[in-house]
Amino acid sequence: MPVDHGTAVPDSSRIEHQRLHALQSFEILDTPAEPQFDRIVKIAANLLDMPISLISLIDAKRQWIKAREGLDVAETPRSLAFCSHAIQDNDVMVVEDAATDRRFADNPLVTGAPYIRFYAGAPLRSREGHRLGTLCVIDRKPRSISDEHRAMLEDLAAIVVDELELHRANIDLQRLVGLDSLTGAGNRRQFLARAEREIARARRYGQAVSVMMADIDHFKKINDTYGHESGDRALVETVRQLKRAARPETLLGRIGGEEFALLLPHADLTSAMAAAERLRDSVERIELAAEGRTFGLTISIGVCQITEGMSLEAALHQADQALYQAKRHGRNRVEASNSH
Ligand code: GH3
Ligand code: MG
Ligand code: MG
Repeated sequence: MPVDHGTAVPDSSRIEHQRLHALQSFEILDTPAEPQFDRIVKIAANLLDMPISLISLIDAKRQWIKAREGLDVAETPRSLAFCSHAIQDNDVMVVEDAATDRRFADNPLVTGAPYIRFYAGAPLRSREGHRLGTLCVIDRKPRSISDEHRAMLEDLAAIVVDELELHRANIDLQRLVGLDSLTGAGNRRQFLARAEREIARARRYGQAVSVMMADIDHFKKINDTYGHESGDRALVETVRQLKRAARPETLLGRIGGEEFALLLPHADLTSAMAAAERLRDSVERIELAAEGRTFGLTISIGVCQITEGMSLEAALHQADQALYQAKRHGRNRVEASNSH
């Protein structure tokens, strides 16, 4: 347990702060659905014969649902969450009839949809002892739970935690090998290291080399309109298209949230501009679906040929300036650096 045994009165706000910090470290909030978690809620609902089961994570002000069975909900305010009560303790919290329970009788989730009456939630306890959320089952009629079912819920909650730990370990591993865990593109560090090597090689052989900065247009609007998960899918799809449209020797790095750097060996400004135009065009063809609607996306690109004596940092800065011009001139455009 991370509880501060040293002080006589535990500082609950400090414990909560540490708990939230631990939750952040799993990098699981606002991630898309994953089958291993979906399977667990399906099993929990079936084994315990309940219409609803959720994997809920308790963030500062909301409960966010990683997996759901029988209820189409993404998140609720924390103040309404049964699970927020369930993480106060290590035991399974059982509410046999919410309508007669002082704490929940007035709760809009009880008096209105989804009309919760029965609730059982097993806390998701990390290895360090932080209760991150719960695996819970819910019924719309009052009932009780056997000791056997209670133990099953606890075992399944332990499996959820194993999956969360695995998720975190995978992200750490990807970082270690220099990949961005969402898109599989190189991360900033890997891109810069490889680009430096490539530039040195190009100089040795007197070959041209160019860089690009690409940035998704109005990406904030995609997040705002279709949700963060759709934004993430847009990033994944953008990287897939960029890789498909680029030559195999092109280096690609995700160097910011929705910003990518590319290095093109053997490319002078003219051929880099042509390549950039192909990349821009291929991203424009992406079609994504969310909430029954389809939407597209575009990128703007700034291009710079690395001349004799120009550092990678300076070249990326030049490309960034050109990118800024492309944004100013209306986006979904390619601009060349006019530095030479
Ligand atoms: P512009 O055309 O000028 O580039 O506008 P923009 O909205 O794309 O640019 P802005 O810099 O205002 O917004 C970038 C947004 O990208 C804000 C941030 O929340 C979002 N973002 C950054 N990283 C991620 C991510 O990993 N996933 C998702 N879904 N969004 C992200
Ligand atoms: Mg942008
Ligand atoms: Mg940006």
